[in-house]
Amino acid sequence: MLRIGPSGNSDSFYASGHKHTYEEAAWLSSLGLTAFEYSFGRGVKIGDAAAAKIKEEFEKYNIEISAHAPYYTNFANPSQSMIEKSVGYILDSVVAVKKMGGVRVVFHPASCGEAARTDAVSLAKKNIEYLMQCVHAAFDAEFTDYIICPETMGKMRQIGRVEEIIDFCKVDSRLYPCYDFGHINSYSQGSLKTKDDYKKIIELTAKELGDEKTKNMHIHFSKIQYGASGEIKHLTFADNVYGPDYEPLASVIDEYRLTPYIVCESDGTMSDDALIMKNFHKND
Ligand SMILES: [Zn+2]
Repeated sequence: MLRIGPSGNSDSFYASGHKHTYEEAAWLSSLGLTAFEYSFGRGVKIGDAAAAKIKEEFEKYNIEISAHAPYYTNFANPSQSMIEKSVGYILDSVVAVKKMGGVRVVFHPASCGEAARTDAVSLAKKNIEYLMQCVHAAFDAEFTDYIICPETMGKMRQIGRVEEIIDFCKVDSRLYPCYDFGHINSYSQGSLKTKDDYKKIIELTAKELGDEKTKNMHIHFSKIQYGASGEIKHLTFADNVYGPDYEPLASVIDEYRLTPYIVCESDGTMSDDALIMKNFHKND
């Protein structure tokens, strides 16, 4: 089943009188949405009681929940103690998402820093292998259905182009790609326009990673303003300058009968725009 929903609480969620994340479950269900991404961008901070309440409500309304790991992860950092911190952020995110009843964790792989891109990418890959050893060691005795998703990034000096994410996902069976098509469009200076532009990415993924990881990939979508060094800021669907447009992607997803987990990251209008996205799909 294809799922679509917002990243975090939208302006319209608060405007309709809601306050707590657990209230998202009934609210999203009433709108016809089916997913919700909880952002731990600035740190994994959630109490056991709050997580349990979220789990209860989200299961009741059949809304799947995912987590975004803190933004500070950088697997190309030359310092081993910083790598341990990045690993810790992801282990903490898996623990938290599990408590909320979810299995998916998205993370930002790395940035180049002072290093040459190829060196930084190979260091990141080596450290992502180490990350997955730590993930298996921490959880496999208890559960193994977690899905860890390295995300495509939007700035030129960040690591996370489509080919790099595909390569990282070859490291372990539990690594699935998170394609942020707004980021892809930003670093490629507006390359996503037609159905074929999206098809190339989906077909490359199927060829390199196989059907399961393609079918059940993680997707972030929003329109994003970009400049010469890539991503500048997330926009809403009111934008008609930068793009990309969701409609051709929806038609590729439908044509290939994919069942991805799709998160809308619009600026403030993420649930409203998620609903617009949902309505482009002919089958689900
Ligand atoms: Zn992200």
